[in-house]
Amino acid sequence: MTFVGLPYEVGPIRPPSEAASLLIRATRNCPWNKCLFCPTYKGTRFERRPVEDILRDIDRAADYHGDVFQTAFIQDANSLVMKTDELVEVISRLKAKFPGVRRVTSYARARTAARKSLDDLRRLHQAGLTRLHIGLESGYDPLLEYMQKGVTADLIVEGGRKVVESGISLCLYVVLGLGGRLRLKGEETWRLHALGTAQVLNQVNPDYIRVRTLTIKQGMPLYDRLVSGEFEESGDAEKVREEQLLVGSLEVASYFASDHSTNVLMDVRGQLPGDKATMLSIMERYLELTEEEQVNFRLGTLFSYFGYEPNYRSFNDFLVPTRREAVAVVIENLEQDQPGRSRQLVTDLSRMLI
Ligand code: SF4
Repeated sequence: MTFVGLPYEVGPIRPPSEAASLLIRATRNCPWNKCLFCPTYKGTRFERRPVEDILRDIDRAADYHGDVFQTAFIQDANSLVMKTDELVEVISRLKAKFPGVRRVTSYARARTAARKSLDDLRRLHQAGLTRLHIGLESGYDPLLEYMQKGVTADLIVEGGRKVVESGISLCLYVVLGLGGRLRLKGEETWRLHALGTAQVLNQVNPDYIRVRTLTIKQGMPLYDRLVSGEFEESGDAEKVREEQLLVGSLEVASYFASDHSTNVLMDVRGQLPGDKATMLSIMERYLELTEEEQVNFRLGTLFSYFGYEPNYRSFNDFLVPTRREAVAVVIENLEQDQPGRSRQLVTDLSRMLI
């Protein structure tokens, strides 16, 4: 895949924090590609790109853009699967051709990080790899198994610790609501998902923890389980309760980021442990709302992502009575039109989020 107008190949995704980065595609697609909740590379085949092709792309990108980037992201889903020598060569060329680039990051799988030697990870760091983004998703093994993540909590701890020890900055991604209302091994999954995830994070102590919320769409294998009734999504309040248990159980010095529109409360963010009490109090306030108010908040928040008015850009916006009343009027009209329409709109808009 080449983006229209670019003389070099670019893959389909990058983290939101890499929106302004130079994108260099080192491999194509995902070598695992089995996770039930992930639609990104389904229907594609993993491919290693010849190193000379990647180096040629870097040269072309440099000729095309000049030295304008400060950050670069190496695509696709798991660059650590490359031979260390080859990845070092790619990063070195990138640094040579773009001397202004100060941050080079990539996606990786925890299992692959665990397999790399500490020495290899240190070499990558020395070559210029500054950060790895790894999907932790959950620290609860039965849920990881159900979602076919292909990794265990112990392996995530091993891989994550190794990355931290190598000096590479680590960002771990957690999926809120991942267990829905499942009962695995006779237990309430949401609780063990929150506690197990906190336990892994406490052992790794990554620089960043980023949360996303499960949003099931067509194209995900999990969608079929939703339609068949095997999997049931949890509601907004259940997800916030889960996040509250997760944050309350964290003993880390990480930055907790909620920078994704799928999250119920994007305001829950901050540097831990200092901001923990504020983060917990936002969730507490949300959980004290009536069900009607929670729908009002969610709909107003979703409106902001789609550019509709009236809307909320933060929880504080919702606390302004006139703004809340404006959204309440919209809800009243929707309900008059068809009872239950406001909740349906919440579901429909949520599924449209990227
Ligand atoms: S979540 Fe990551 S490892 Fe799983 S299929 Fe998607 S890209 Fe691959």
